[in-house]
Amino acid sequence: MAFELPPLPYAYDALEPYINKRTMELHHDMHHAAYLSKFNDALGKAPELASKSAEDIMRDLASVPESIRTAVVNNGGGYVNHAMFWEIMGSNAGGDPSGEIGDAIKAIFGDFDSFKTKFNDAGAGQFGSGWVWLVLDKGGKLAVTSTPNQNTPLSDGHEVIMGNDVWEHAYYLTYENRRPEYLKNWWNVVNWEKVNARYQAAKLRLG
Ligand code: MN
Repeated sequence: MAFELPPLPYAYDALEPYINKRTMELHHDMHHAAYLSKFNDALGKAPELASKSAEDIMRDLASVPESIRTAVVNNGGGYVNHAMFWEIMGSNAGGDPSGEIGDAIKAIFGDFDSFKTKFNDAGAGQFGSGWVWLVLDKGGKLAVTSTPNQNTPLSDGHEVIMGNDVWEHAYYLTYENRRPEYLKNWWNVVNWEKVNARYQAAKLRLG
């Protein structure tokens, strides 16, 4: 049993002009596929993990044999992070957050603009490659955080509500070195219905 590449839930050009077609082709078919392939290779050496979901493997790195742990952190992280990323974007998206997640964001961050500023600043401030996140932390509170490389907040006991990829491969073809411009434009492709569904699921999981 090996994990599989989730198909993009929309066309490669669906996120234009904010994320262009070529970026999506390379990002999904090459980058995500490469993380998946290396994750599966590593897991081939740990058959005892075969019954677990990819997320559960990332939630419990202590159960991953040390000989493959770095490969799992990098490539398992890359696998689950990108699966989340495709899921929470879409065409005809953006706007203000709706549903319970909208209320929760206002309660914690004051208003949507303050939240976006905090998230964008964390993304711009992540040195080198990484991700910026909205998580439900161990205590059940929404928080903005960032991680280097493909590290996932799941490994720190948090639940991932949404995240933006700030690796150069996510934006360089369109935005070149202008990461803050990419971060600002990205909100136009956020599918709040999906984010809200992840928030509901995360709350249930944390109890
Ligand atoms: Mn990426």
